Order: sequence, then structure tokens, then C-alpha cells
Amino acid sequence: MVLAEVRRRVVTLMHNAAILVIGFQMCVIYGAAALWKAQGPVWENGTALYYILHIDWFRAWPALSDSAADHPTIIAVIAYVTVFAQIGFPFAVFSKRLKYALLVLLLGMHLSIAVLLGIPVFSAVMIIGDSVFLPDTFWLALGTLAHTVGWPVARGGSQAIADALAKELRERGGTIVTGHRVRSLAELPRARAILLDVSPAGLLALASADLPPGYVRALRAAPSGVAVCKVDFALSGPVPWAAPDCARAGTLHLVGTREEAIAAERAVAAGRHAERPYVLAVQPGVVDPTRAPQGRDTLYAYAHVPFGSELDLGEVVTAQVERFAPGFRDLVLARHVVPARALEEHNPNCVGGGFTGGGLSLWHTAMRPVPRRDPYVTPIEGVYLCSASTPPGPAVHGMCGVHAAARALRQCFGIRTDPLRFVSNPV
Ligand SMILES: Cc1cc2nc3c(=O)[nH]c(=O)nc-3n(C[C@H](O)[C@H](O)[C@H](O)COP(=O)(O)OP(=O)(O)OC[C@H]3O[C@@H](n4cnc5c(N)ncnc54)[C@H](O)[C@@H]3O)c2cc1C
Repeated sequence: MVLAEVRRRVVTLMHNAAILVIGFQMCVIYGAAALWKAQGPVWENGTALYYILHIDWFRAWPALSDSAADHPTIIAVIAYVTVFAQIGFPFAVFSKRLKYALLVLLLGMHLSIAVLLGIPVFSAVMIIGDSVFLPDTFWLALGTLAHTVGWPVARGGSQAIADALAKELRERGGTIVTGHRVRSLAELPRARAILLDVSPAGLLALASADLPPGYVRALRAAPSGVAVCKVDFALSGPVPWAAPDCARAGTLHLVGTREEAIAAERAVAAGRHAERPYVLAVQPGVVDPTRAPQGRDTLYAYAHVPFGSELDLGEVVTAQVERFAPGFRDLVLARHVVPARALEEHNPNCVGGGFTGGGLSLWHTAMRPVPRRDPYVTPIEGVYLCSASTPPGPAVHGMCGVHAAARALRQCFGIRTDPLRFVSNPV
């Protein structure tokens, strides 16, 4: 635990140092570029951009370049603004308001460079560099944006999703075998393509002898993500939320203050159970009345816990909901708890109770399960990975399967069609 805390602090320190270096580098780039420009006659007389618009290499859209070059006054103003913005940037970073105004200006400049001059990679690198100056609240707001339209729930329960997939497959002549745990690839019938909906640990269990040692090592080192203890409630009525607006929300994050959220998540990251854990609760009845008989309701919730936890958090989760909905406890008709360890017994992909198919940092979302040019293609010919352990990661969007299917169709069957075109009713 002490080691985990030391590791967390070292990682935070390295992260902050890296951000500082990138920020400093951006200031040097802008400052140096502006000083160089200020000494050049074409920038001094405002014609630099006019010339660039006439160089073949930078005319990605000739008609657009010609029409921009038709406005020499605007072009001259942009040239001057560019020099002033770049000169000012290293100083503006110390002023909050000016910094954001210049960042917006520079963002516009980079986007224009990408489109007009046809050098998007350069622009993307500069925009990513600029983004280190954005405040934490911006990134937090981005995360919050994902919640503004709510999270969908399947009418009739999540089983409806599995039923729809099974129906589609059967209608195309496919057969489904359930209740059988596959323990080795050798058990499977011969096929041109095999798509494995498994975790890195699952892939190792099925085929480690056929995989190269480097890939095996990388799979073993793949981080696990977040583990949960799930609690389902049958209720005699809707949850009596203290804040009335909560009664209209499908998904609620029950954690209290920011400090409480940090403390709870830190405890779990350090391998401890939080006293008041981060609880995510869903009341599907808000949009789907089929979930419970008239007048009754359901609520499901999960709490973040350490990996492999065997603890029954039924009481802890009930108390956390009760905190925000006094009287909730009296409505509970039945409670069903699935501790993290039991989640794995139910679904081998949920290793240790993890439900995200692997780490969820920006890096691990893109590079999952291991850094590889094509993460869906395993080193075994004709065997593909299609689970949430591949990009773009967890949730029931199905895109991991779409990408894996595209590879299998192309490489094993020579078909280059987008797999979604084969689906009869794409949502
Ligand atoms: C409690 C909980 C709440 C969630 N809430 C949401 C939510 O609100 N919204 C959302 O979008 N996502 C949610 N998720 C995440 C979502 O369910 C997963 O990201 C998604 O199902 C992953 O899809 P998958 O195809 O990779 O794996 P899975 O859906 O897990 O399917 C893999 C299947 O393969 C089977 N399998 C694995 N190994 C073997 C083997 N060796 N032999 C035979 N069968 C095997 C498993 O039993 C399982 O049936 C939640 C997950 C959990 C656990």
C-alpha cells in the first residue's frame, strides 16, 4: 500500500514535470518563431501569408487559396496578428484572461493552417501542445459533456441487447452454444477466422503457448482498470431523493463533495475499501416503465472496490443511497449483491471484478490491450481480439467488434465492406 502511494506520487510528479517541459517548449517555439518572423521583410510588410498561398506545396485546396489571396488586406492583418500573438504568448501565459484569448486565436490559426495549407499533422501537434495550458476544469467539463444527454438504457433490460444480437445471428444461419467455458483454442472447430471476445487474461488462458513471448509479457503487464461490487434493489416505490431533480435522472453519481470523491477513489487505488465509496446508481424506471410493476421501482448500483474484493457492500451502498435519499432503506423489498470476485465467476472477462476490460488512462484507451499497430489482430493467424480490451474500450457500443470484424473480413475473406453494412437494423 505504501508502495502504491509512493508510485502514485512519483507518477504525479513526473506528469507535472512533463507538462511543465511541454509548456516551456511551446513558449520557446512561439517566441522564437515570432522573433524570426519579425525580422523578415515579408512578415514586416504583411505579405508573408500571401506568398505562401501561391506556393504549390501548400495549396491543398487551390480554389480556397485563390479566394483567400483575393483579400490582401485581411491576409496582411492576419500576418501581423500572428506575429503579435506569438510574441505575446510567452508573457500571456501568466495572465489567465489573456492566455485563453491567445489560445483561442492560436487554435484558429492552427486550424486554418491545417485546412488552407494542408499540413494537418503539424497543426494537430501544435494544438496538442497548446492544450497543456487549458485548466483542469476544461477537461472535467469535457467529461461532464458526455453525461449531458444521459446514458441510454435498453427497454426491457440489458438482456434485450443480447437477444437482438442473437436474433440477428440466427437469422443469418448462425448457431450459438452457451454454458460452455472454452479452455483452449484447440477446442474450437476449424475456421478461417476466430474472433475472441475475451480479456487479456482470457487470451493468455486460451492460447499462451501459441503466442510470442513478447506479446505474452505485454498482455500480462496490461493494467486492469476498475473493479466493482454490484448491488440490485427491488423497491416498493421510487427513490425519495432529497434533491427532486435526481428523480428525473437515469444515472446518478453518489459521492458527495469533490474531496470525498478523491478520498474514496484514492482508498480504492491503494487497495482499501472506502468507507463511503464512489457509487454509480441507475434508475432505469425513469425512462422504462417495463422494469417494475405499477407503483414499484428498481435501482441498480455499483461501488468501486479493490481488485478481487470479496466484500459484500450491500449495506455500504444502501447507506450511501440513504444519505442522498432519506427513507430509501424502508423501500427496499429485496437486495441482490454481486461482490467483485463473484462478478468474475459470472463472466471471466471481469477479471477480479474489473468491468472496463483494462486500464482507462488516455494511453491505455488508445493502446489496449498492448501497444501494437493493429490491436485487433493477434499474432496467431486468423485469430482476432474483439472485446472491450481493444480500442475504443468498454461500454456496449459494439465498436471493438466492428473494428475486429473489418480486419477479419478483409484479411480472411478479402471483403473490404464496412461490417456495419451487413447489419439489418443498425441503431
Ligand atoms: C456492473 C456493470 C455495469 C455496467 N454498466 C454499463 C453501462 O451502464 N453502460 C455501458 O455501456 N456499459 C456498461 N458496462 C460495461 C459493459 O458491460 C462492457 O464494457 C461490455 O459488455 C464489454 O463487452 P465485451 O464484448 O468486451 O465483453 P462481455 O460483454 O463481457 O462479453 C464477453 C462474453 O464472453 C464470455 N466468455 C469469456 N471468456 C469465455 C470463455 N473462455 N469461454 C466461453 N465464454 C467466454 C463471457 O462469459 C461473456 O458472456 C457495465 C459492466 C458491468 C460489469
